[in-house]
Amino acid sequence: MTTIDTDTTELLAAGFSGTLLRPGDATYDEARQVYNAMFDRHPALIVQCRNTEDVVAAMKFARAAGLEVAVRAGGHSIAGFSACEGGIVIDLSLMKHVDVDPDRRIARVQPGVLLGELDAATQEHGLATPLGFISVTGVGGLTLNGGIGWLTRKHGLSCDNLVAAEVVLANGSVVRANDTENSELMWGLRGGGGNFGIVTSFEYRLHEISDVYFEMRFYDAAALGDVLRLFGACGPALAEDCVGGAVAMTVPHSEMFPEQLHGQFVAALLLGHLGGDEAEAKQAFAPFDAAPAPLFAMGMTVPYVVAQSMQDEDMPSGRQNYWKAGNLRGLTEDVIDVLTTRAPTVLSPHAQVMVLLLGGAMGRVGETDTAYCGRDAVFNVSIDNIWEDPAENEEQIAWSRAFYDTLAPHLSSGVYLNWASEESTDRVKYAYGPNYERLVALKDQYDPTNFFRRNQNIKPST
Ligand SMILES: Cc1cc2nc3c(=O)[nH]c(=O)nc-3n(C[C@H](O)[C@H](O)[C@H](O)COP(=O)(O)OP(=O)(O)OC[C@H]3O[C@@H](n4cnc5c(N)ncnc54)[C@H](O)[C@@H]3O)c2cc1C
Repeated sequence: MTTIDTDTTELLAAGFSGTLLRPGDATYDEARQVYNAMFDRHPALIVQCRNTEDVVAAMKFARAAGLEVAVRAGGHSIAGFSACEGGIVIDLSLMKHVDVDPDRRIARVQPGVLLGELDAATQEHGLATPLGFISVTGVGGLTLNGGIGWLTRKHGLSCDNLVAAEVVLANGSVVRANDTENSELMWGLRGGGGNFGIVTSFEYRLHEISDVYFEMRFYDAAALGDVLRLFGACGPALAEDCVGGAVAMTVPHSEMFPEQLHGQFVAALLLGHLGGDEAEAKQAFAPFDAAPAPLFAMGMTVPYVVAQSMQDEDMPSGRQNYWKAGNLRGLTEDVIDVLTTRAPTVLSPHAQVMVLLLGGAMGRVGETDTAYCGRDAVFNVSIDNIWEDPAENEEQIAWSRAFYDTLAPHLSSGVYLNWASEESTDRVKYAYGPNYERLVALKDQYDPTNFFRRNQNIKPST
C-alpha cells in the first residue's frame, strides 16, 4: 500500500481547514468507501476539503506529490472514478452549503451536497432544479455529465440548468464560468464531466414544483413485450409534465408491494405526473390501460422530496455494480426483441433494465449548444446490473456486455456517461459525437497534462 509520510502532509496542513486521512486513521475506512463496492480502493491520502482554498491547496499538493488523483463529491460514480488505489482523493463531501435565492430563482450549491439535501433547501420555497431519481447521489458528478430525473422532460437536464460555476483549474487558479465569462469552459461543464477542473460552486436555475402523482404497475414477465410496445407507442405523446419508465425487474422485498410478488421477475411501468393532480394524471396515463391486466398497481400523490427518495432503499450502497446505457430514437420490434430475450436472463435479483422516456425540454437544446450529446434520444435504455458477491464479477460483467453488444446496433447517437461503467477512448469519442473535437481543444487549454483523468476521459491532443 502506498503511504505519504506525515512530514510531507504537514506542507499541506498549513492553512488547510479540512481533514487529512491516512491508512490507519479512525475514519479512513469509512471515508474511502464509495457506492460501488467493486471499487474497494486504498488511497494513500484522503484530503477532505471545507472550502475553495482547501481545494486549491489539495490540488497543488497532489500535483507536487505526482500521485494519481480522484475527485469525490457524492461518491456515486458507477465507474468508481471517485476511488483510487495508492493515490490522493480530493474529497468534497464536507462542502455542504446551499444558498437559495427565491427571488432570482437561483441556488448556489457546494459540491458535496446530495440531491435530497438540495431538494430539501429549494422545496422550502416551492422550487427545485432538475436532478436524478435517487436522493443520496451527489450533485457534482450528476450535473457535470448531464443529470436525468423527474424534471428532465419539463425543464431539461441538470447541466442545462447550470447557469454558473466556480472552478479550480489544474494550474491551481480559481475562475468563474457562465455564458459571458469563460463561456467556452461553461459550455464544457454542461456535460463534459470532471475533465476541466474541480467545481467548487454550482449555480442552478430553479423552477416551481410542488407535488408529484406517482404510479407503479407490475405485469407478468410474459407481458414485457406488450408493455414495451405500448410504452414505445404512447410514451412519446405524453405531455412534458409526465415522467415514464418501462422496467424489467425483480419485485423487492418491500412493504410497499404484496408479499406474494416479492422476488418475482416482472415487467413494470413507472409513471409520474408533475403537479400531483390524480384525475389529470389518470387521464394522461389512460393509454397504458390497454396493456394486459396488471398483477398489482398503486398510485399516490406525494410531495416532490418524497418522490425524489422513493427508490433510495432499493439501491443501497455496498453492492457490485456494472451498468451500460444507450439512447434510442424508438422502441422498434428489433429492440423489443433484444430486451424481451435478454432481460429475463438476469442473474441477480437486484439487476434492472430500464427504458426511460426522454425528449421534451432536454431535446429542444441544440446538439452542439452544450457538451452533452444525444439530444434527439426519445428513450434511454439502461442495463443496471447489480449483485452482491464479488466472486460473481466476471460472470455478471460478461452478461452485461453480451446484452449491451446485442443492443448496440439499434442505439442512436450519444451515450449517457453517468449510467456507464468506465468507457474506452473510442466510446467516449462516440459519446460526444460532434462535440468531441471541441472538448479536446478545451482539454488542451485547461488541462493539457490530463491531471483530471479519473473520469470518462477526454484526452488532450498531445
Ligand atoms: C444508485 C444510483 C442512482 C443514480 N441515479 C441517477 C439518476 O437518476 N439520474 C442520473 O442522471 N444519474 C444517476 N446516477 C448516476 C450518477 O449521476 C453518477 O454516478 C454521478 O457521477 C454521481 O455523482 P457523485 O457526485 O455522487 O459521484 P462521485 O463518485 O463523487 O464523482 C464522480 C466523478 O464526477 C466528477 N466530479 C464530481 N464532482 C465534481 C466536481 N465538483 N468537480 C469536478 N468533477 C467532479 C469526478 O470526475 C468524479 O470522480 C445514479 C447513480 C447511482 C449509483
